[in-house]
This record gives sequence, structure tokens and C-alpha cells, in this order.
Amino acid sequence: MPPAMTGSIRVATAAVGSLLISFVALGSPLATNPQLPLLTSIKEVRSLSPAEAKLGYPVCLRATITYFDPTENFLFMQDATTGIWASSSWPILPVAAGDVVEVQAKTTFTDFAPDLTDLHLKRVGRTPLPVPDRATFEQLASTLEDSRWVEIEGSVREAEYLHRYPWEQVLWMDVAVPGGHIDVSIPWNGSSVPPPHLVDARVRIRGACGANFNAKRQLVGVQIYVPDLREVTTIEAPPINLAAQSPTPIGQVQRFGSRNTLGHRVKLAGIVTAVLQNRGFYLQDNSGSIYVQSRQANDFTYGDEVEILGFVAFADSHLRLEDGSVRRLRRNAALKRAEIGVEEAFSEKYDSDLVTLQGRIVGRSALREQQVLMIQQKQSIFPVIFSRSVPARQLPDEGSLVKVTGVCVNDIDSFGRVSAFKLIARAGEDVTVLQRPPWWTVRRALMSIAVLGTLTAVVLAWVLVLRRRVRLQTRLISRKLLEEEALKEAAEMASRSKGEFLANMSHELRTPMNAIVGFTDLLLDTPLTEEQRDYVTTVQFSSNALTRILNDVLDFSKIEAGELLLEQTTFSLRSCVERILQLIAPEANRKHLALDLRMENDVCDRIVGDPYRLHQVLLNLLGNAVKFTDKGSVTLRISCIDRSESSLLLQFTVADTGIGIPLEAQTRIFQSFHQGDGSTTRKYGGTGLGLAICSRLVSLFGGSIWVESAPGQGSSFHFTARFSLPAEAVPVRAGDLLRDAV
Ligand code: ADP
Repeated sequence: MPPAMTGSIRVATAAVGSLLISFVALGSPLATNPQLPLLTSIKEVRSLSPAEAKLGYPVCLRATITYFDPTENFLFMQDATTGIWASSSWPILPVAAGDVVEVQAKTTFTDFAPDLTDLHLKRVGRTPLPVPDRATFEQLASTLEDSRWVEIEGSVREAEYLHRYPWEQVLWMDVAVPGGHIDVSIPWNGSSVPPPHLVDARVRIRGACGANFNAKRQLVGVQIYVPDLREVTTIEAPPINLAAQSPTPIGQVQRFGSRNTLGHRVKLAGIVTAVLQNRGFYLQDNSGSIYVQSRQANDFTYGDEVEILGFVAFADSHLRLEDGSVRRLRRNAALKRAEIGVEEAFSEKYDSDLVTLQGRIVGRSALREQQVLMIQQKQSIFPVIFSRSVPARQLPDEGSLVKVTGVCVNDIDSFGRVSAFKLIARAGEDVTVLQRPPWWTVRRALMSIAVLGTLTAVVLAWVLVLRRRVRLQTRLISRKLLEEEALKEAAEMASRSKGEFLANMSHELRTPMNAIVGFTDLLLDTPLTEEQRDYVTTVQFSSNALTRILNDVLDFSKIEAGELLLEQTTFSLRSCVERILQLIAPEANRKHLALDLRMENDVCDRIVGDPYRLHQVLLNLLGNAVKFTDKGSVTLRISCIDRSESSLLLQFTVADTGIGIPLEAQTRIFQSFHQGDGSTTRKYGGTGLGLAICSRLVSLFGGSIWVESAPGQGSSFHFTARFSLPAEAVPVRAGDLLRDAV
């Protein structure tokens, strides 16, 4: 068999009025499982497990009713074995405590213990109620006495007539017995007179023992169901009529030598200093403060002056007043508050007193309903708890210096020492700001550091990106430079090779050419027929032209290779120029061109330089002038544009009235192998090397060359050249004379 379960009471789900009660005839067939054995005693029912009880065993027994609640449609009954709680899905036949009934029912398990349902009762007589079990609180709370007829003795803490339904009242009592408190409920129809001064009286009560249990089917309280007020006997009236007494000063409660009243009621009066919703409030008079636990707490507020009758008790090393019945004397009474420091708050002298403390807010809770401020004064930090919900924005910011008013509550450890304290304040108005927090708070500093850190990180990241880009670009540029360097070297190498090749070739060609020219000259001195002479003359002309070209190529190669150096020879400028004019005169005459030489007076005749290269430049320019001019004139002008003791800078101008040069070709013609345009080559021939050689020779002369021209307007080629002046003392060498004579 399963261990015995105790019965339970429970407020029935359907309240059924007594008018609805109708008689249900005994003997109706019970819808039970025929396999299950019939149970004939309450003890057998109580021994069932919850699962077994739910099977619905048939029950047939005789018992005495100990309590009947027609409104909630349940009853307690007891037979010779034990008691049980029973209810029914139909209204139960009205019975009264003391009725003997024959019961047909079936077992069930409603919520706490096996019980009976589907009751069919037959009243068969009356009997005195059973001899009650005189149970202690521990026995009652152990569930052993559950549903049995019991007797308790204790003092009434609270007594109230409550309206359970509009038509029905119950007398509810809180009775303190050794070990705990018991709820007592007695149906009261208002007709019988309740005993006077129940509160604080010592009473003996008989009734059916019920259990208050939670949703997990655990017993959390004991309730005695008394069928009639006659079962309540006053053993001892309240010791004094407190209503007529003057209140005890709070500071005197439980003091040595004073009239100690533990277990009995005291009367206190004072002003409410803090209200803890649904729980109680702090009360203060001139002599001290105390916490009052009262179900009326919500009816009172800060500043109410009240009078209380309550029972003194200890809890957590604090005195408190329990089960207080409170009466308001007046509102908005002036409150005395002590301004104290943390040392005093820790001294326990101000425990439960209204005090004012200063400090700086070092923290705020983020809870929505319950705001808490953490306040620091010196080395101590204490919490301020608000008894009412305060919007967080109404509270000062962290770092503010504040003055807080509230009830000081000490926490006392197991050695009786104050380990901490808190202030219970009303609301925002109990916190006065003395000083706003400095703008530069730790939070802001951290935020600034975070922002700076982020910025630095971004900048660093950007720098890294840029550095990477620069590195890539640098690598690219270096590669390009290397490539260019290699290309340049290759080009230079190619150019050198080309130069060398040209020089070599020209040299190699010149030797046989000299032979051709020489032998052609000799051949012309021999007797020849007219036709032969004509042929040989053509060979001579072509050979001379080819020799000139070869000389040009050789000179250019030399200049490019940096191998051409100017000689320094004293020579006659006029002789040099006249010789050139003599050379071009035949061609000019053939074209009917006027040849003109204008040499300024300040131009020295004898100068020091390289007459051969000057001859070459002038011959090229004059040759071109004659070549590109069909009518008009060719003029050579020489002027001195700068002179010092030892040198002079001459400007030579070769002007013609020829075809002219377009602007875009004017710079190009000084580059090697470039001519004015393609048609020039076809019409006038040439290699495009002449002006390139001139330009480089003029550079060697320390001067520059340029052209002024327009198509059809003729051309003027200018160049400057620096020459030294011969020292008077310097003797003229034989070589110089020889060259002058050329
Ligand atoms: P080329 O051997 O072809 O004459 P140059 O270097 O002496 O080579 O001359 C280059 C080009 O400059 C010529 O082909 C011609 O187009 C132009 N040029 C030079 N001198 C004259 C000039 N006096 N009048 C017109 N064009 C000229």
C-alpha cells in the first residue's frame, strides 16, 4: 500500500447557492469499476496513491460530519479511523456538524490528497463531535492531522469579519500558537454575537484541520475550519484595555525594566517615515523607530501620524511590530531627521530612523521598476532604495554630490555586528543635488578615448593603405625606370653600334672613293674622245657628291661619339669666307642668283678657332640657300655681338629669297636625317644630315643656331660662334700659315 496521504481542502470551483441544493436519493447506482474492491473505512481511502485514488474505488461507510460548507459544496467527515475532505459534482444534501451519515461515494485525487467525490449521503442520526486531537503546530503542519477534528490553544493576533460573498460572511482569525500562526475561519451569519475583545485573548478552538498548499501540492499553511462560533472558547481575556492606555514610547519597547509585553499587544504612536508596499512601514516617535508589519500598509503614507496596536516580535536581530492594526490620527506631521555621517549610520544607533546623509553618486541601477542609487561617502558605499517606482530621468546623474533623506536600515550579521546599511527613500524629492557632476566624467573620458582610438585606428588603417599603394607605385615606377634604363642602354648601344657601323663603313668607302676621285682626275688629264670625257666628267661629279655624303656621315658619327674636337688655329676670317663663296659661286651664277657678303667693320679678320669646321658650317648653309633658291639673292652677313679682350662672339646670317620653311618643320630640320618635307628630298635631294652637323658644330663653337623663315618668303639661318683673339706676342706657326693659305 502507498504511504498514507493526508486530505486537503480546496476552495471548490463552482460556488453553488443553497437555494440550488436539492435532495439526491440514496441508493442511486454508482458508476464505478466493478473490478475494484469496495472500501469501507476512511483510512483505506487515505492509503491510496494519487493514481489509485483517481481510479474511482467504490466507497461505502458511516461517518460523522465535522464541517459542511454548502456554498463551496464540500465537507469534512470523520469515522473511527480518521477524517477526510469530500466534495461532489452535484449539490450535497444539507448536513450539519454532528450528523451521522451513511456515505456512498467514489475515490478521487483532486489536488492534495486522496478524497471522495460523487457523494450520496443518508443522514442516520446525530452524535457528539469526536474527541479532538490536541495537536501542536508541528503536528498540524506535518499533514498527519489533515482533515481530522482537532483542538488548538493560542492567542488571537487578528480577527476580522470578511464578506466572502455578498450574502455570506466569515469570521477570520490569525491565531498564534507555539511554533507558528494558524488561520481560522468560521461561517458567521451575523445572528450570533461574536465574543468581545477577541484580539489578544487566549482562546481554545476546535475544528476540522485543513491544509493550505501550493501548486506543487506542498503544504504551506494550516487552516482550521470551525463549524460554529460555539467551538471557540475564551480562556483568558486580553490583559488590558489598550484603547484606553497611552502609547508606549517606541524606544521603551523591550527595554530592561520596562513593562515587557512580548507575546501581547502594545500600543505605539508615531509618524510613518517609509512605506514598503504591501508589507509594512517604518514608524518613528521622539524616542525611537520600529518597523511595523501590517496588511493595512498601503493605506498610509509618509508623514501620517498613526496609532497602532500590534504584537512585538524579533526578526533578523531587529525588533518589529507584527499584525498591527493601524488608525490614522492626522496627515502631514512634521518629521524629525538626524543629519549623520557613515560612521554613525554603522553604529546601529540610527537603525530604522529617518536620517539625512551626504555623498556622491557612484552608480545607478538599470532596473525599470526598482531604482537604486549607490552613494559614496569617504570610503563607504551604501545603496539608496526607493519605496516607490521613480522614473530614472528624475534621479541625478552619476558623479553628483547629493543629500539623501531616508530610513536607515542596518544589516546585522550572525555575530550581531552591523555589516552594512541602506537608506529607504520615498522618491526623487528625497534626493537633493548639492553639486552637479563635472562634465569630464570617467564615462565621457572613456568615450573620448574610444572615439580617439577609433579615429587613430581609421587614420592608421588609411596610412597603411596609402603606404601599400605608395609601395606598389614605387615598385611599378622602379620597374618602369629599370625597363627604361635598359631600353635607353639598348638604344644607346644600338646608336653606338650604328654610329660605329656608319663610321666604319664611311671610312671603308672613302678609301676606294679617294682612289676613284684621284684616278678620275688623272684620267681627265689624258687624251680622251669627247664622249669619253663626258662620261668621265659625270663619274667625277658623282664621286665628289658621294665623297661629300660620306664625309657628312663620318663627321656626324664622330660628333655623336664625342670624338670631334675643334682645333685652335689662327686664321683669316675673310679668306675663309671668300673661299666658300668661290665654291658656291658657279652654282649661284648658273641660277642667276646674286651672292652678297656683308662683313661689319668691327669684325676682326684674324681670329683663333677651327677654320675647317667654320668652313663646313657656312658651306652647308650657303649651299642650302643656293639649293633652295631659284631666283633672287643669297646674302652672308657677319657681325660681332660680344667682344672681350681675349675673345669675340660672332653672329653669321645666311639669308636667301628661296622657298622658305614651314613653321612646324623649323625645329625638326636641325635633327639628324630630317628634312623640311618629303617633296624636298624628291626635288632637291640631300640626306638631312647637314643642319644636324651644323647644329652640333655650332654647340662646339660655344654658340647656337636658329632659323627665321616662312614658306615662299625665304629663309634666314643665324648662328653664333665664339672665337679667341690671337695674342700679339704669339708667333704665327708654320701650320697656321699653311692653313690660312688654303
Ligand atoms: P639636306 O642635305 O637635305 O639639305 P640639311 O640638313 O642641310 O639636309 O637640310 C635639311 C632640310 O632643311 C632640307 O631638306 C630642306 O628641306 C630644309 N632647308 C635647309 N636649308 C633651307 C633653305 N635655305 N631654304 C629652304 N629649306 C631649307
